[in-house]
Amino acid sequence: MRTLSFQDEQYPLASGESVLDCLLRNQQQVSYSCKSGLCQSCLVQAVDCLPPSRATQGLKSTLQSTGYAMACQWHPEHDVCVKLPTDAALSVQGRVLALQRLNAVVMKLVVQADDPTALADCRPGQYLNLVNPFGVMRSYSLANDARLDGRAEFHIAATKQGLFSNWLFNNATVGDSMQIRGPAGSCFYVADDNRQQPLLLVGVGTGLAPLYAIVNDALAQGHQGPIALLHGASTPANLYYRQELRALANTHSNFSYSAVVLDGPFDADCQQGDAIKAAVELLATVAAAQARVYLCGNPGFVQTLRKQVFLKGVKSANIFCDPFVERSA
Ligand SMILES: Cc1cc2nc3c(=O)[nH]c(=O)nc-3n(C[C@H](O)[C@H](O)[C@H](O)COP(=O)(O)OP(=O)(O)OC[C@H]3O[C@@H](n4cnc5c(N)ncnc54)[C@H](O)[C@@H]3O)c2cc1C
Repeated sequence: MRTLSFQDEQYPLASGESVLDCLLRNQQQVSYSCKSGLCQSCLVQAVDCLPPSRATQGLKSTLQSTGYAMACQWHPEHDVCVKLPTDAALSVQGRVLALQRLNAVVMKLVVQADDPTALADCRPGQYLNLVNPFGVMRSYSLANDARLDGRAEFHIAATKQGLFSNWLFNNATVGDSMQIRGPAGSCFYVADDNRQQPLLLVGVGTGLAPLYAIVNDALAQGHQGPIALLHGASTPANLYYRQELRALANTHSNFSYSAVVLDGPFDADCQQGDAIKAAVELLATVAAAQARVYLCGNPGFVQTLRKQVFLKGVKSANIFCDPFVERSA
């Protein structure tokens, strides 16, 4: 029987059990959300033992070298001892700078880091973990370039019975303190030597947030190939940033924006349709073998479309995904 040592207690680990599940089963207060090795909100620090590489995948090298690991991905084969990270080691402090409804179901949240240089290593489109004043931590994708002034913009969907989003929509006020952890994720623009490469970006709902950041970054870095952004939602009222995206398309001849919705009213750049089908049709207009594709938002949507674009000839190394996996039981 393997044991997990935590805060001067020892807990027997069930067969195949993760560090996170063992801690939760024993009523320990640990942050977690996706339980899929994505959000990094369940970080623990190893004490006198080495976490397996699976539990450290995607973590910054500074975190890996100091024994941090995702508790949800760590299934110990020996006795292990872990402690919770100290906030000072992982987080930077910030404040709510602005709150703005983008539509009935999406809130724009702007957080200002107290130290304006604190977010200097955040690539537009990566995600950060935000901790609200009640200690609820969730992952949100950057919709802007926060490297410039430590001001980070997020687009957050209202989620029924959601702890973080309910707080945000009903109680958050300008000036509230926030802790910020990260960045993480590989959904960002890389200005390599192929500036002619076609870029296809597809997202549903707040999946637009990282895509908006990536498009702006690619254009700012002088990307010359065609950039096509497709946004899907249930109705036109649930789309957002349409004016901004149209303005971008008007000023950059290599950028195009379109939207698909299930119900009307429709117009020139907002058609009825299924976002997966529309994305595959859009991909057919570019050389798929050369294209770089970014897919963000609802996990089922991202997973299905990822398979489809791969089958249409996009190389897996050129497919970048951020499925917005929610907390699971
Ligand atoms: C990499 C990544 C990036 C992300 N980026 C974004 C982003 O840019 N924008 C965005 O909007 N989201 C994003 N997300 C999702 C985000 O992290 C949260 O999961 C989401 O906002 C919901 O959080 P919440 O605290 O409001 O809901 P939670 O409290 O986590 O609840 C999640 C779900 O569980 C259900 N639930 C909760 N409590 C109960 C209960 N007692 N009984 C039954 N059901 C319950 C809720 O109804 C809800 O459906 C991202 C996720 C990941 C992993």
